[in-house]
Amino acid sequence: SIKLSGRVQSVKPSPTLAITARAAAMRAAGKDIIGLGAGEPDFDTPDHIKAAAIEAMNKGFTKYTPVDGTASLKKAIIEKFKKDNGLDYQPKQILVSCGGKQSSYNLTQALLNDGDEVIIPAPYWVSYPDMVLLAGGVPVVIETTQAQHFKISPEQLRAAITDKTRLIFINSPSNPTGVAYSLDELKALGDVLKDFPDIIIATDDMYEHITWKKGAFVNILNAHPEFYDRTVVMNGVSKAYSMTGWRIGYAAGPIDLIEAMGTIQSQSTSNPTSISQYAAEAALNGDQGFIDMMMTEFKKRHDFVVSELNKIDGIDCLETDGTFYVFPNVEQAIAKMDNIKDDLDFSEYLIENAGVALVPGSAFGCPGHVRISIATSMKNLENALERIKKAV
Ligand code: PLP
Repeated sequence: SIKLSGRVQSVKPSPTLAITARAAAMRAAGKDIIGLGAGEPDFDTPDHIKAAAIEAMNKGFTKYTPVDGTASLKKAIIEKFKKDNGLDYQPKQILVSCGGKQSSYNLTQALLNDGDEVIIPAPYWVSYPDMVLLAGGVPVVIETTQAQHFKISPEQLRAAITDKTRLIFINSPSNPTGVAYSLDELKALGDVLKDFPDIIIATDDMYEHITWKKGAFVNILNAHPEFYDRTVVMNGVSKAYSMTGWRIGYAAGPIDLIEAMGTIQSQSTSNPTSISQYAAEAALNGDQGFIDMMMTEFKKRHDFVVSELNKIDGIDCLETDGTFYVFPNVEQAIAKMDNIKDDLDFSEYLIENAGVALVPGSAFGCPGHVRISIATSMKNLENALERIKKAV
């Protein structure tokens, strides 16, 4: 067998992508599987966005672009930051990448030296710890409970900081929990970070638009504008416009850091696809009605799923602030079931015996829970809930 690098051996493939692939393979083999693992909206990309991509191709806009993104897409992103977030950026402060995932990857590669610590509140997006490891860094996970609505406290944050802390990830609304920090909560966390001016703050705003309270979204820069020179804001079109396959994300921050992230990108993927950039521009500049339609649908499903889950003895589920995930506690259900000792067994049992694919909380650093994606039809959700009820 081939001897692989220590780097790749330190990480694992994305568990959420793996469960989706496994559900698809079981379905292809003729099994009746309802997939609740999806990390993407189940709606089609809006037509005006597709039309822009076709226009790009027909115009011959099919060549390399600047590594950091086209001038006109960067302009649309700058306007979006101004309009939605009250943030001012210059073009040099923006880097367009192949999805939000590459933004985080570029950041960790550009910032971290061996042994640098990165604070990651759990439950976390599955990719943060592994990206930190790939960059030689050390993930420092802060655990939370459902009782604290999965949000870290200022005391927990302070206790996690050492003289090696280089970066903190904040993801709100959160994948997998769906909860979002309020302005006051971000102010309180920022009051701790004020004492540590060398820590860079990454705010992953990927689910900004997927919140039930329209216009209520805030990030750490809204709470602490003075952190402007040490905060990287990461966002993208994947979730808001159902464009996960187009691979466009973007980051904004201090010029030297953004330039360094661009250098990493220039030696890995170069620019994101020209056609996708053209389409992303249409998404940001065009009619935003799609988001409202999607949100109405997600909210209906959320209300149904949370209420049905809470009717099942042994399952306890919080209402969320947004995203298309819910993250119930299933510890009591596990305790009742024979030969099921943890959330991994529980998820395995559901996929094998009930035909429901969901992701164990352990994948997000939070055992005793599972992540259920509501990005599937109401009919699928109704069936899935019936099956879970029966299985438990
Ligand atoms: N950040 C969070 C919190 C996510 O959940 C995701 C996708 O699952 C991403 C970033 C990356 O999105 P993409 O690379 O598809 O743009």
